[in-house]
Amino acid sequence: MLEGKVALVTGAGRGIGRAVALKLAENGAKVIVNYNGSEAKAMETVKMIEEAGGEAEAVKCDVSDFTACGELAKTVIEKYGRIDILVNNAGVTRDGLIMRMSEEDYDTVLDINLKGAFNTMRHFSPNFLKQRSGKIINISSVAGVMGNPGQANYCASKAGLIGLTKSVARELASRGVCVNAVAPGFIETDMTDAMSDKAKETVIGSIPMKKTGKAKDIAEAVAFLADEASDYITGQVLCVDGGMAI
Ligand code: NAP
Repeated sequence: MLEGKVALVTGAGRGIGRAVALKLAENGAKVIVNYNGSEAKAMETVKMIEEAGGEAEAVKCDVSDFTACGELAKTVIEKYGRIDILVNNAGVTRDGLIMRMSEEDYDTVLDINLKGAFNTMRHFSPNFLKQRSGKIINISSVAGVMGNPGQANYCASKAGLIGLTKSVARELASRGVCVNAVAPGFIETDMTDAMSDKAKETVIGSIPMKKTGKAKDIAEAVAFLADEASDYITGQVLCVDGGMAI
């Protein structure tokens, strides 16, 4: 269990991030609920945690902003004195075929999904190293493992996140800090809600288990990787996808 642990979850106002924040709090962690655009939703996540008897606060930060992430790390360490669990969940899509994809859509996705995780790990790694313990969990995607037409920017960011995870895992391993990735498949959130019914049907048809996943399915995997039960696991990619990436 996670009593006495301090966790930061990026993009925790809604979707998978919210489910992860609720689960880590349920397991006893104090949770910093990061958001960028969804302040009201983030406050709602905090309220849900508090009503369940947990401890949380919402903190705004655009993860693609290197300096802002430095400020976030400073604020967290000043207030709590430590960081035990960092979940890099914030992510966006800007889909389009490569021949039509704008430079802006490419850069936005890479800046948030990949550089965002670099920014937080860069600023918190001295604390993790000093503590000689901790768990970093990066939310990648099966799209980063398999590729997906119309998502070159997204797949590049999520595949890059896997490389980043493995490298940082090797750097921090001797100090007892575990760094892993979770690769969700098709999970019901705002992100997948935007798809047409036909596109949803096609994807579900390609899933061996023939069903979508819930944000809670990802939260359970993250909770395991945040717990001491997984202390000997680092540098891994755990696909939570109904068999999609088999
Ligand atoms: P979602 O419902 O669209 O939520 C996206 C989250 O990212 C929001 O909380 C949003 O916060 C946050 N975010 C976006 N830009 C941000 C920024 N610049 N700084 C801080 N936070 C930012 O998506 P989701 O489905 O829960 O996805 C969560 C993660 O899982 C993403 O990394 C996504 O790529 C990954 N994933 C999802 C699926 C799926 O099927 N849903 C599959 C594979 C991987 P604000 O609203 O506050 O801006």
